[in-house]
Formats: sequence, C-alpha cells, structure tokens
Amino acid sequence: MFSKELLAWHDAHARDLPWRGEKAPYKIWISEIMLQQTTTQTVKGYYARFLAAFPTVQALAEAPEQEVLKLWEGLGYYSRARNLHRAAKVIAGDLSGRLPDTVEALKKLPGIGDYTAGAIASMAFDRPELAMDGNLVRVLARLTAEAGCVGEAAVKKRLRAAGAALMDLDRPGDFNQAMMGLGRLVCLPGQPKCGACPVAAHCAARERGLQRELPLMPPKIEKKTERRGVALVFSGGRVLARRRPDSGLLAGLWEFPNFQDARDAASLIECLGELGVTARGGKRLGAASHVFTHLVWKMEGFAFTADALPENGDLRAVDAAGLDALPMPTAMRAFRDMANKMLKLNK
Ligand code: SF4
Repeated sequence: MFSKELLAWHDAHARDLPWRGEKAPYKIWISEIMLQQTTTQTVKGYYARFLAAFPTVQALAEAPEQEVLKLWEGLGYYSRARNLHRAAKVIAGDLSGRLPDTVEALKKLPGIGDYTAGAIASMAFDRPELAMDGNLVRVLARLTAEAGCVGEAAVKKRLRAAGAALMDLDRPGDFNQAMMGLGRLVCLPGQPKCGACPVAAHCAARERGLQRELPLMPPKIEKKTERRGVALVFSGGRVLARRRPDSGLLAGLWEFPNFQDARDAASLIECLGELGVTARGGKRLGAASHVFTHLVWKMEGFAFTADALPENGDLRAVDAAGLDALPMPTAMRAFRDMANKMLKLNK
C-alpha cells in the first residue's frame, strides 16, 4: 500500500533535524515559515537563535519589530518575519496564546497560506490535511502522470484530491514530511532517481516513461533588472543609513541611500540633496548585485563626505557599532562591509 511503503522509507531515511518530530505548534510554525524558499542547512542556525530569543509566542509578540528583523537578517523574504510578528500579536492578544488547530482558522493569520496551514494542522494537530509545497506538487503530478500545467487551479485541485486519497490518516504530518523528503531526495526536478524510489511501483509517469517530462510548469517570469547607485555618506566617524518604507520590497529594513538609474556621483549628489544631504566627493567603490524573486539589482557604490548628516525617524547617522546593530538586507552586505572598513580606517 502506497502510504505504508512511503512511511517505511521515511522512517528509515528521515534526517535528524532540530524540528523533526516536534509537536509544539509554535516551533512547527517557526520552522515551516523559515523553510519556505530556504535550505534546511541555512535554517538550522536561524531556528535555534530565533527560539532562544523568542521561546514563546508571547515573547515574540512583545519583541520590537526591529529585533525580529535583526534576527532574520540574511534569511531573505523579510515579509515572512514581519508576518510572523504580526500573527504572534494576534495569537497572544486574541487567541490566549494558542495557535488555532484548523486550516481555516490558521489561514486567517498573517503570512499563513494553504501550505503552512496544512503543515501546522497535520504536524501539530494530526489533522488529515495536505501541505502542498513544490515537492508535493511535483511528486503527485508524476505519480498520477498529470498532463495539465501545474500552475492551473483545476490541475492543483486534481493533485490535491490525489494526495488526499493517498494520505495515511494515522500519520498525516509524517505523510506530508515523507512526500516532501521524497521530492527533495529522490523525485528530483530534472533527474528523478526512479531506481531508488520507494513508491516506483505506484508511479504512472514512470510506467509511461514520462518522469522527465513532468510536471508541466508554467512559463518562467523574466526578471526585471534595475541599475541603482548606492551612496555611502560619511561625516565625523559616522555613515548615513536610511530605513525603507513599511510596505513593499525589504519593508522596514535599513540600507544606504540608493537610487534607481543614478549611475554616477553627480546624479547621486543630486538625489542626496533631496534628502537634505549636501554631499561632496563621489569615489567609486565597486559593484554588487542581488537577485530577488522577480527583480535583479545591479548596484554601484560611491563614497561621499558631508559636513553634517540629517537625523530623523528614517535617516540615521551611525558609527560602526550602530551600523552592525541595524537590520540590513543581504543586498546591502557588500556595501556594509565597505562602510565598516572605511569607518574603522578613519577612527
Ligand atoms: S518513480 Fe520516479 S518519477 Fe515516480 S515518484 Fe518515484 S522518483 Fe518520482
């Protein structure tokens, strides 16, 4: 029987991860949010540090947002951290500190969609719910030899029904984890290892020799490229940092002022003027790029000096220690290293 064979393989091959076998809903929630778009190897350290800082949903709810973002620094997709924080406030304030135990109620919380709700409901509360991530979609499409594009709602619905029919009702959380493990270790995107597959006998794609052609994916969205000038403005042993707006890309994080299509020192001096900064110089520092989901930043850094730096809610003049304390996205890492070096040299 499919689920028994799958779970026997899972029990023999499951990796020893900090969140494996975890039943505490709060910890499952944190691990599932961190694991979205991020490898298990990267998540391990963040998971341990995050739980040490915020061991309960109450502790997370009471933390300042900047502290939550600082602990998330480098993990990317920062809206995950902001939504975790917002959801923790709702759980602590309105739900007596307990995560809901149904998919419907979980999905009302910020940042919890179909996948995460299914994962929490099945792993923490043993509810027979699927956690349909990319692995499950691929495995189910192959098992059923689904010929439709997996981006289509009707196809997703068919795959979900197929997954529900295969699920082990006694161990729904383990079933989801086993399917994800199968997708991650055996039923790989390009080259499935069918020879090592514990459920090969149940696979329609393999039977028909279609395993490499499936699943049919939606066309890739082309990434837009933005060229941005990044300004490191120094004054009296400090450098100017700017907080990004509360919504949109990298919301609430700190960066060095940067401007689209400002590709030389003169253009940056003009843009800085609009922030109230009278900058001089403009030594070229070097380039860096960063790839977001739908966007690429190609950045060029320039160093300036100023007699004074403005200080208001969103602009701050910081020394090296102050710079380290600000939550900054990975996109700014190369420039932060440059700024740090220059601050230390000029001490
Ligand atoms: S037999 Fe091959 S294609 Fe089918 S589920 Fe196993 S690894 Fe995937």
